[in-house]
Amino acid sequence: MLRDALLSAARSPRIERAVTTLPVTRHVVERYVPGDTIEDAVRATKELAADGLKSTLDFLGEDVETTEQAAATVDAYLRLLARLGSAGLTQHAEVSVKLSAVGLALPGGERIALEHARTICNGARAGSTTVTLDMEDHTTTDSTLAVLAELRQDFPDTGAVLQSYLHRTEDDCRSLTGVGSRVRLCKGAYDEPAEVAYQSKRDVDLSYVRCLKVLLAGEGYPMVASHDPRMVEITGALAARHGRKANSFEYQMLYGIRPNEQRRLAREGATVRVYLPFGTQWYGYLMRRLAERPANVVFFLRSLVSKS
Ligand SMILES: Cc1cc2nc3c(=O)[nH]c(=O)nc-3n(C[C@H](O)[C@H](O)[C@H](O)COP(=O)(O)OP(=O)(O)OC[C@H]3O[C@@H](n4cnc5c(N)ncnc54)[C@H](O)[C@@H]3O)c2cc1C
Repeated sequence: MLRDALLSAARSPRIERAVTTLPVTRHVVERYVPGDTIEDAVRATKELAADGLKSTLDFLGEDVETTEQAAATVDAYLRLLARLGSAGLTQHAEVSVKLSAVGLALPGGERIALEHARTICNGARAGSTTVTLDMEDHTTTDSTLAVLAELRQDFPDTGAVLQSYLHRTEDDCRSLTGVGSRVRLCKGAYDEPAEVAYQSKRDVDLSYVRCLKVLLAGEGYPMVASHDPRMVEITGALAARHGRKANSFEYQMLYGIRPNEQRRLAREGATVRVYLPFGTQWYGYLMRRLAERPANVVFFLRSLVSKS
Protein backbone atom coordinates (compact mmCIF):
# COMPACT_ATOMS: atom_id res chain seq x y z
CA MET A 1 0.00 0.00 0.00
CA LEU A 2 2.85 2.36 0.87
CA ARG A 3 4.43 1.54 -2.50
CA ASP A 4 1.18 2.37 -4.34
CA ALA A 5 0.80 5.63 -2.42
CA LEU A 6 4.37 6.71 -3.19
CA LEU A 7 4.08 5.79 -6.86
CA SER A 8 0.86 7.76 -7.19
CA ALA A 9 2.50 10.67 -5.32
CA ALA A 10 5.26 10.53 -7.95
CA ARG A 11 2.69 11.82 -10.46
CA SER A 12 1.11 14.49 -8.20
CA PRO A 13 2.19 18.11 -8.83
CA ARG A 14 0.70 19.15 -5.47
CA ILE A 15 2.78 16.64 -3.48
CA GLU A 16 5.78 17.45 -5.68
CA ARG A 17 5.57 21.11 -4.62
CA ALA A 18 5.32 20.12 -0.95
CA VAL A 19 8.21 17.65 -1.04
CA THR A 20 10.61 19.66 -3.19
CA THR A 21 10.29 22.80 -1.11
CA LEU A 22 11.22 21.04 2.15
CA PRO A 23 14.84 22.04 2.83
CA VAL A 24 15.68 18.63 4.33
CA THR A 25 14.66 16.76 1.18
CA ARG A 26 17.97 17.80 -0.36
CA HIS A 27 19.82 15.65 2.17
CA VAL A 28 17.90 12.56 1.02
CA VAL A 29 18.17 13.42 -2.67
CA GLU A 30 21.98 13.59 -2.43
CA ARG A 31 22.05 9.90 -1.63
CA TYR A 32 20.65 9.09 -5.08
CA VAL A 33 21.51 12.11 -7.26
CA PRO A 34 25.07 13.48 -7.21
CA GLY A 35 24.07 17.01 -8.26
CA ASP A 36 22.15 19.41 -10.48
CA THR A 37 24.71 20.23 -13.17
CA ILE A 38 26.70 18.60 -15.96
CA GLU A 39 29.87 19.31 -13.96
CA ASP A 40 28.39 17.40 -10.99
CA ALA A 41 27.66 14.48 -13.32
CA VAL A 42 31.17 14.57 -14.79
CA ARG A 43 32.73 14.63 -11.31
CA ALA A 44 30.66 11.61 -10.22
CA THR A 45 31.51 9.74 -13.45
CA LYS A 46 35.23 10.34 -12.79
CA GLU A 47 34.92 9.09 -9.22
CA LEU A 48 33.13 5.93 -10.34
CA ALA A 49 35.66 5.36 -13.15
CA ALA A 50 38.49 5.61 -10.60
CA ASP A 51 36.87 2.65 -8.82
CA GLY A 52 36.58 0.66 -12.06
CA LEU A 53 32.87 1.39 -12.56
CA LYS A 54 31.19 2.50 -15.80
CA SER A 55 28.23 4.90 -15.82
CA THR A 56 25.05 5.53 -17.71
CA LEU A 57 23.98 9.14 -17.23
CA ASP A 58 20.37 10.29 -17.05
CA PHE A 59 19.48 13.97 -17.36
CA LEU A 60 16.49 14.01 -15.01
CA GLY A 61 13.13 15.14 -16.34
CA GLU A 62 10.20 13.15 -17.67
CA ASP A 63 6.72 13.73 -19.10
CA VAL A 64 7.69 17.01 -20.75
CA GLU A 65 4.67 19.00 -21.92
CA THR A 66 6.09 21.42 -24.50
CA THR A 67 8.29 21.15 -27.58
CA GLU A 68 10.61 23.73 -26.01
CA GLN A 69 11.17 21.51 -22.96
CA ALA A 70 11.81 18.50 -25.19
CA ALA A 71 14.35 20.48 -27.25
CA ALA A 72 16.03 21.70 -24.05
CA THR A 73 16.45 18.09 -22.92
CA VAL A 74 18.10 17.16 -26.23
CA ASP A 75 20.40 20.14 -25.90
CA ALA A 76 21.37 19.11 -22.35
CA TYR A 77 22.27 15.60 -23.57
CA LEU A 78 24.38 17.01 -26.39
CA ARG A 79 26.24 19.30 -23.99
CA LEU A 80 26.72 16.40 -21.60
CA LEU A 81 28.10 14.15 -24.35
CA ALA A 82 30.47 16.88 -25.54
CA ARG A 83 31.68 17.44 -21.98
CA LEU A 84 32.19 13.71 -21.37
CA GLY A 85 34.25 13.71 -24.58
CA SER A 86 36.40 16.65 -23.55
CA ALA A 87 36.98 15.05 -20.14
CA GLY A 88 38.09 11.81 -21.84
CA LEU A 89 35.30 9.85 -20.18
CA THR A 90 33.29 8.38 -23.05
CA GLN A 91 34.90 4.96 -22.76
CA HIS A 92 33.50 4.87 -19.21
CA ALA A 93 30.10 6.45 -19.78
CA GLU A 94 27.01 6.27 -21.98
CA VAL A 95 23.63 7.99 -21.60
CA SER A 96 20.14 6.79 -20.67
CA VAL A 97 17.19 8.64 -22.21
CA LYS A 98 13.50 8.59 -21.29
CA LEU A 99 11.42 9.13 -24.43
CA SER A 100 8.85 11.09 -22.40
CA ALA A 101 11.62 13.60 -21.68
CA VAL A 102 12.12 14.19 -25.40
CA GLY A 103 8.47 14.55 -26.38
CA LEU A 104 6.79 11.11 -26.48
CA ALA A 105 3.65 12.44 -24.75
CA LEU A 106 3.23 15.43 -27.10
CA PRO A 107 0.80 15.25 -30.04
CA GLY A 108 2.64 13.24 -32.73
CA GLY A 109 5.00 12.30 -29.93
CA GLU A 110 6.41 9.06 -31.32
CA ARG A 111 7.83 10.84 -34.37
CA ILE A 112 9.14 13.77 -32.27
CA ALA A 113 10.74 11.43 -29.73
CA LEU A 114 12.32 9.37 -32.53
CA GLU A 115 13.90 12.42 -34.16
CA HIS A 116 15.12 13.76 -30.82
CA ALA A 117 16.52 10.39 -29.80
CA ARG A 118 18.23 10.18 -33.20
CA THR A 119 19.93 13.53 -32.55
CA ILE A 120 21.18 12.25 -29.18
CA CYS A 121 22.40 9.00 -30.80
CA ASN A 122 24.36 11.06 -33.32
CA GLY A 123 25.95 13.01 -30.45
CA ALA A 124 26.81 9.75 -28.70
CA ARG A 125 28.31 8.26 -31.86
CA ALA A 126 30.48 11.35 -32.32
CA GLY A 127 31.94 10.62 -28.87
CA SER A 128 32.16 6.85 -29.56
CA THR A 129 29.60 5.99 -26.95
CA THR A 130 26.04 4.69 -26.81
CA VAL A 131 22.46 5.48 -25.78
CA THR A 132 20.02 3.29 -23.86
CA LEU A 133 16.28 4.04 -23.99
CA ASP A 134 14.86 3.79 -20.48
CA MET A 135 11.48 2.05 -20.21
CA GLU A 136 8.58 3.90 -18.58
CA ASP A 137 5.04 2.78 -17.72
CA HIS A 138 3.32 0.05 -19.77
CA THR A 139 1.29 2.48 -21.90
CA THR A 140 4.59 3.46 -23.55
CA THR A 141 6.15 0.00 -24.04
CA ASP A 142 4.99 -0.49 -27.64
CA SER A 143 5.96 3.00 -28.75
CA THR A 144 9.35 2.79 -27.00
CA LEU A 145 10.12 -0.53 -28.68
CA ALA A 146 8.96 0.89 -32.04
CA VAL A 147 11.32 3.86 -31.65
CA LEU A 148 14.09 1.45 -30.61
CA ALA A 149 13.59 -0.64 -33.77
CA GLU A 150 13.81 2.48 -35.96
CA LEU A 151 16.90 3.77 -34.19
CA ARG A 152 18.66 0.42 -34.37
CA GLN A 153 18.57 0.57 -38.17
CA ASP A 154 21.12 3.39 -37.99
CA PHE A 155 22.47 2.84 -34.47
CA PRO A 156 22.46 -0.92 -33.82
CA ASP A 157 24.14 -0.41 -30.45
CA THR A 158 21.11 1.45 -28.97
CA GLY A 159 20.20 -0.24 -25.69
CA ALA A 160 16.70 -1.44 -24.82
CA VAL A 161 15.17 -1.82 -21.36
CA LEU A 162 12.68 -4.57 -20.46
CA GLN A 163 10.79 -4.92 -17.17
CA SER A 164 10.22 -8.40 -15.72
CA TYR A 165 6.99 -7.33 -13.97
CA LEU A 166 5.18 -7.19 -17.34
CA HIS A 167 3.57 -10.42 -18.57
CA ARG A 168 4.83 -9.71 -22.09
CA THR A 169 8.52 -9.37 -21.22
CA GLU A 170 9.72 -12.95 -21.65
CA ASP A 171 8.50 -12.78 -25.28
CA ASP A 172 10.11 -9.35 -25.72
CA CYS A 173 13.39 -10.82 -24.44
CA ARG A 174 13.19 -13.54 -27.11
CA SER A 175 12.71 -10.89 -29.80
CA LEU A 176 15.74 -8.94 -28.62
CA THR A 177 18.42 -11.63 -28.32
CA GLY A 178 20.09 -11.05 -31.69
CA VAL A 179 23.84 -10.54 -32.11
CA GLY A 180 25.06 -7.52 -30.15
CA SER A 181 21.57 -6.53 -28.93
CA ARG A 182 22.07 -4.53 -25.74
CA VAL A 183 19.19 -5.23 -23.35
CA ARG A 184 18.88 -3.95 -19.80
CA LEU A 185 16.65 -6.21 -17.72
CA CYS A 186 15.07 -4.61 -14.64
CA LYS A 187 12.10 -5.57 -12.48
CA GLY A 188 10.14 -2.38 -13.24
CA ALA A 189 9.49 0.74 -11.20
CA TYR A 190 5.94 1.90 -12.05
CA ASP A 191 2.51 1.17 -10.59
CA GLU A 192 1.04 -1.28 -13.10
CA PRO A 193 -2.38 -3.00 -13.18
CA ALA A 194 -2.87 -6.77 -12.82
CA GLU A 195 -4.03 -7.05 -16.45
CA VAL A 196 -0.50 -6.37 -17.67
CA ALA A 197 1.85 -6.97 -14.74
CA TYR A 198 2.65 -9.52 -12.05
CA GLN A 199 1.64 -8.14 -8.66
CA SER A 200 3.64 -10.23 -6.20
CA LYS A 201 7.38 -9.90 -5.64
CA ARG A 202 7.71 -13.68 -6.04
CA ASP A 203 6.11 -13.64 -9.50
CA VAL A 204 8.19 -10.63 -10.60
CA ASP A 205 11.35 -12.40 -9.40
CA LEU A 206 10.44 -15.67 -11.14
CA SER A 207 9.82 -13.77 -14.35
CA TYR A 208 13.17 -11.99 -13.92
CA VAL A 209 14.95 -15.36 -13.75
CA ARG A 210 13.11 -16.68 -16.83
CA CYS A 211 14.10 -13.53 -18.72
CA LEU A 212 17.70 -13.81 -17.51
CA LYS A 213 17.84 -17.36 -18.90
CA VAL A 214 16.64 -16.16 -22.30
CA LEU A 215 19.03 -13.21 -22.45
CA LEU A 216 22.13 -14.99 -21.20
CA ALA A 217 21.54 -17.91 -23.58
CA GLY A 218 21.15 -15.51 -26.49
CA GLU A 219 23.65 -13.69 -28.68
CA GLY A 220 23.08 -10.21 -27.32
CA TYR A 221 24.72 -8.18 -24.57
CA PRO A 222 22.58 -8.52 -21.40
CA MET A 223 22.68 -5.66 -18.88
CA VAL A 224 21.48 -7.09 -15.59
CA ALA A 225 19.99 -4.17 -13.65
CA SER A 226 19.19 -5.33 -10.15
CA HIS A 227 20.43 -4.90 -6.58
CA ASP A 228 18.90 -8.21 -5.62
CA PRO A 229 21.69 -10.52 -4.35
CA ARG A 230 19.85 -13.59 -5.68
CA MET A 231 19.62 -12.14 -9.19
CA VAL A 232 23.32 -11.24 -9.11
CA GLU A 233 24.19 -14.78 -8.03
CA ILE A 234 21.95 -16.44 -10.63
CA THR A 235 23.43 -14.20 -13.34
CA GLY A 236 26.94 -15.31 -12.40
CA ALA A 237 25.90 -18.98 -12.57
CA LEU A 238 24.12 -18.59 -15.92
CA ALA A 239 27.01 -16.62 -17.40
CA ALA A 240 29.41 -19.40 -16.38
CA ARG A 241 27.08 -22.05 -17.84
CA HIS A 242 26.98 -20.24 -21.19
CA GLY A 243 30.73 -19.55 -21.19
CA ARG A 244 30.19 -15.79 -21.18
CA LYS A 245 33.25 -13.66 -20.57
CA ALA A 246 33.11 -10.54 -18.37
CA ASN A 247 32.98 -8.31 -21.45
CA SER A 248 29.90 -10.04 -22.89
CA PHE A 249 27.40 -8.88 -20.24
CA GLU A 250 27.26 -6.36 -17.42
CA TYR A 251 25.70 -5.73 -14.04
CA GLN A 252 23.97 -2.41 -13.50
CA MET A 253 22.94 -0.72 -10.25
CA LEU A 254 21.65 2.72 -9.30
CA TYR A 255 23.91 5.44 -7.94
CA GLY A 256 23.91 5.30 -4.14
CA ILE A 257 22.37 1.83 -3.83
CA ARG A 258 24.63 -1.03 -2.68
CA PRO A 259 27.83 0.89 -3.57
CA ASN A 260 30.04 -1.67 -1.81
CA GLU A 261 28.52 -4.48 -3.86
CA GLN A 262 29.14 -2.48 -7.06
CA ARG A 263 32.81 -2.21 -6.15
CA ARG A 264 33.09 -5.83 -5.04
CA LEU A 265 31.77 -7.08 -8.39
CA ALA A 266 34.12 -4.77 -10.29
CA ARG A 267 37.11 -5.90 -8.20
CA GLU A 268 36.24 -9.50 -9.06
CA GLY A 269 36.52 -8.62 -12.74
CA ALA A 270 32.87 -8.12 -13.69
CA THR A 271 31.73 -5.23 -15.87
CA VAL A 272 29.60 -2.98 -13.66
CA ARG A 273 27.73 0.14 -14.74
CA VAL A 274 26.11 2.65 -12.39
CA TYR A 275 22.97 4.52 -13.40
CA LEU A 276 23.80 8.11 -12.60
CA PRO A 277 20.94 10.63 -12.65
CA PHE A 278 21.58 14.36 -12.40
CA GLY A 279 19.63 17.60 -12.72
CA THR A 280 16.99 19.51 -10.82
CA GLN A 281 13.97 17.42 -11.88
CA TRP A 282 14.61 14.62 -9.39
CA TYR A 283 11.15 14.36 -7.80
CA GLY A 284 9.67 11.40 -9.78
CA TYR A 285 12.98 9.54 -9.57
CA LEU A 286 13.21 10.02 -5.79
CA MET A 287 9.64 8.85 -5.18
CA ARG A 288 10.24 5.64 -7.19
CA ARG A 289 13.36 4.93 -5.10
CA LEU A 290 11.43 5.49 -1.86
CA ALA A 291 8.66 3.19 -3.13
CA GLU A 292 11.17 0.39 -3.73
CA ARG A 293 12.17 0.13 -0.11
CA PRO A 294 10.14 1.07 2.97
CA ALA A 295 13.40 1.56 4.90
CA ASN A 296 14.13 4.50 2.60
CA VAL A 297 10.94 6.21 3.73
CA VAL A 298 12.03 5.75 7.35
CA PHE A 299 15.40 7.28 6.39
CA PHE A 300 13.56 10.22 4.80
CA LEU A 301 11.28 10.74 7.82
CA ARG A 302 14.23 10.46 10.22
CA SER A 303 16.03 13.23 8.31
CA LEU A 304 12.90 15.37 8.62
CA VAL A 305 12.87 14.93 12.38
CA SER A 306 16.61 15.31 12.94
CA LYS A 307 16.87 18.48 10.83
CA SER A 308 13.73 20.21 12.07
C1 LIG B 1 20.65 0.46 -13.72
C2 LIG B 1 19.18 0.45 -13.51
C3 LIG B 1 18.36 1.00 -14.47
C4 LIG B 1 16.98 0.97 -14.30
N1 LIG B 1 16.17 1.41 -15.31
C5 LIG B 1 14.84 1.28 -15.21
C6 LIG B 1 13.97 1.59 -16.29
O1 LIG B 1 14.39 2.03 -17.37
N2 LIG B 1 12.64 1.42 -16.11
C7 LIG B 1 12.12 0.94 -14.93
O2 LIG B 1 10.90 0.76 -14.83
N3 LIG B 1 12.92 0.65 -13.89
C8 LIG B 1 14.25 0.81 -14.00
N4 LIG B 1 15.05 0.47 -12.93
C9 LIG B 1 14.45 0.23 -11.59
C10 LIG B 1 14.07 -1.23 -11.40
O3 LIG B 1 12.99 -1.54 -12.25
C11 LIG B 1 13.68 -1.52 -9.95
O4 LIG B 1 12.60 -0.73 -9.58
C12 LIG B 1 14.80 -1.33 -8.94
O5 LIG B 1 16.04 -1.63 -9.48
C13 LIG B 1 14.59 -2.22 -7.72
O6 LIG B 1 14.59 -3.57 -8.11
P1 LIG B 1 15.74 -4.62 -7.71
O7 LIG B 1 15.96 -5.48 -8.91
O8 LIG B 1 16.93 -3.91 -7.23
O9 LIG B 1 15.10 -5.60 -6.68
P2 LIG B 1 14.24 -5.43 -5.36
O10 LIG B 1 13.61 -6.75 -5.15
O11 LIG B 1 13.36 -4.23 -5.42
O12 LIG B 1 15.36 -5.16 -4.29
C14 LIG B 1 16.33 -6.12 -3.94
C15 LIG B 1 17.24 -5.54 -2.86
O13 LIG B 1 17.97 -4.45 -3.42
C16 LIG B 1 18.09 -3.38 -2.49
N5 LIG B 1 17.33 -2.21 -3.01
C17 LIG B 1 16.49 -2.20 -4.06
N6 LIG B 1 16.01 -0.96 -4.28
C18 LIG B 1 16.55 -0.18 -3.33
C19 LIG B 1 16.45 1.21 -3.03
N7 LIG B 1 15.69 2.04 -3.75
N8 LIG B 1 17.15 1.70 -1.97
C20 LIG B 1 17.95 0.87 -1.26
N9 LIG B 1 18.09 -0.45 -1.49
C21 LIG B 1 17.40 -0.97 -2.51
C22 LIG B 1 17.51 -3.89 -1.21
O14 LIG B 1 18.52 -4.53 -0.47
C23 LIG B 1 16.50 -4.93 -1.69
O15 LIG B 1 16.19 -5.89 -0.72
C24 LIG B 1 16.43 0.44 -13.11
C25 LIG B 1 17.26 -0.11 -12.13
C26 LIG B 1 18.61 -0.13 -12.33
C27 LIG B 1 19.47 -0.77 -11.29
